[in-house]
Amino acid sequence: MKKTGKKAIVIGGGVSGLAISIRLAKKGYQVEIWEQNDFLGGKLSEHWEQGFRFDAGPSLFTLPELLEEVLEFSGHSELMPSLHRLDPVCRYFWNDGTRFDAAADPQQFAQEAAGTFGVDAQRVASQLKHSREIYSISAPVFLERSMHRLGTYFNLDFLKGVVQMPKLDVFKTMHEAHKKNLGHEKLVQFFDRYATYNGSNPYKAPATLQAIPSLEYFRGAWLPKGGMISITRALTEAAQRMGVQIQMQRKATAIYHNGKNIESVEWDGQRESADLVVSAIDVQRFYPLLNPAMPLPKRIEQAERSTSALVFNWGMRSSYPELDVHNIFFTDDYRNEFDALSKSGNGIIEDPSIYLFISSKRVHEDAPAGGENWFTMVNAPGIGALNQAQIKEARERIGGKLSRILGRDIFSDIQAEWIMQPADIARRTGSPDGALYGPSSNTLWSAFNRHANSTSKIKGLYFTGGSVHPGGGIPLCLLSAKIADDLIPSLP
Ligand SMILES: Cc1cc2nc3c(=O)[nH]c(=O)nc-3n(C[C@H](O)[C@H](O)[C@H](O)COP(=O)(O)OP(=O)(O)OC[C@H]3O[C@@H](n4cnc5c(N)ncnc54)[C@H](O)[C@@H]3O)c2cc1C
Repeated sequence: MKKTGKKAIVIGGGVSGLAISIRLAKKGYQVEIWEQNDFLGGKLSEHWEQGFRFDAGPSLFTLPELLEEVLEFSGHSELMPSLHRLDPVCRYFWNDGTRFDAAADPQQFAQEAAGTFGVDAQRVASQLKHSREIYSISAPVFLERSMHRLGTYFNLDFLKGVVQMPKLDVFKTMHEAHKKNLGHEKLVQFFDRYATYNGSNPYKAPATLQAIPSLEYFRGAWLPKGGMISITRALTEAAQRMGVQIQMQRKATAIYHNGKNIESVEWDGQRESADLVVSAIDVQRFYPLLNPAMPLPKRIEQAERSTSALVFNWGMRSSYPELDVHNIFFTDDYRNEFDALSKSGNGIIEDPSIYLFISSKRVHEDAPAGGENWFTMVNAPGIGALNQAQIKEARERIGGKLSRILGRDIFSDIQAEWIMQPADIARRTGSPDGALYGPSSNTLWSAFNRHANSTSKIKGLYFTGGSVHPGGGIPLCLLSAKIADDLIPSLP
């Protein structure tokens, strides 16, 4: 790969920063990643506690072909992690004793849902088909291209998508659509949960988000054989092999421009000049660094944040055969749970829905023999730090609920503990309020009108990552790096 002497500084070493650095190196830039932490991956990082390994953020991997594409692009497709395809995708528990394994095969899923919930299998199968149709119409329109470039609007796939817009249910909420399509309360709750895949509220988010489950049932739910951290490792290795310089513990404190062009980036009082700067950090954190100052667009400033999380990582001394890799324990009052998460709500409700991820079910080295690594998460409002009393209370409620449903005292099995609360997520990743996915997609406007991947105001400045277009989550972050790359001119 030829080097041109043009320098690019990528701020942030999360999945999107790593992905864009590979793309820029391929274009011929001399690329540096600046990462404030002493570890890479941002939200996609890991933590060890007394012999137990915990993935510190994402646990579900969809659309692995997007990772494959970046690695192929780097010329190192051999770095693609081996994957387990999960089947069942997830095991569901309700307080009344109902259990449901979500089979990976859509037909089997529909049959088994019909058996468990006493509904017509055809109705369930139709919902999955509807989900796939919405995805195939909306992805070329809203996800795969810049929404801020004129050329997009003259693209054939885009125009086809626009013609089919009425099928996207944009004026209903997700919950309304599920209620109409499925009728059964538990099945509606099951499908509503997919709003949380981008930190949104199914009672507010547009029904277009019905597209999300199609990824799991038609494209697959995956777990890398070395745990989620393998994704960060593969991207890091590819970037390094391409000559990307990784500067650890280097926090960007100011970005200088002359009103037209980007000039330099500052850390610890020193400036380094750059021809190109890519923000791969939360866009709300990036704007205040600009010098001279530039206001964050109002719609971005005012957008509701996605939810945060309170996670109890528990190293368990024994194993639980009744659990799978992904497990959900639902609340009886889902609406109340989302209301409580909103700005005016009370936070974590008495009987919260619990998400329990156990990578050691498949990645055996993640826990000592006979034990399991439990990533036990509840959604939490992103409104700053929880105090010790709130964390203790939530711990009692969560452990108590799991003990009741599993029929054994789980507290006595906890051998190691590492707690991650919204303030920790904010500190580890620079995400305001510890939001998991940048702005929420609770309105049509916020779902499809995120910050652009470039700005017409300053040449040489680009944006990628979970807080900008097309959105949060690993697949969309990888797409965002691709879209930003498409906007960056090739070097001669
Ligand atoms: C608990 C949790 C569960 C999740 N579950 C899933 C899931 O199951 N599946 C899924 O696909 N997604 C999931 N996500 C979302 C996913 O992790 C993110 O959307 C994605 O990893 C964001 O990547 P990013 O590169 O945009 O940003 P980040 O990962 O936030 O990286 C930003 C990086 O920038 C660094 N940084 C910030 N400011 C500066 C500065 N001034 N100078 C230098 N460096 C700086 C940070 O330290 C960080 O390393 C989850 C997230 C969390 C936290």
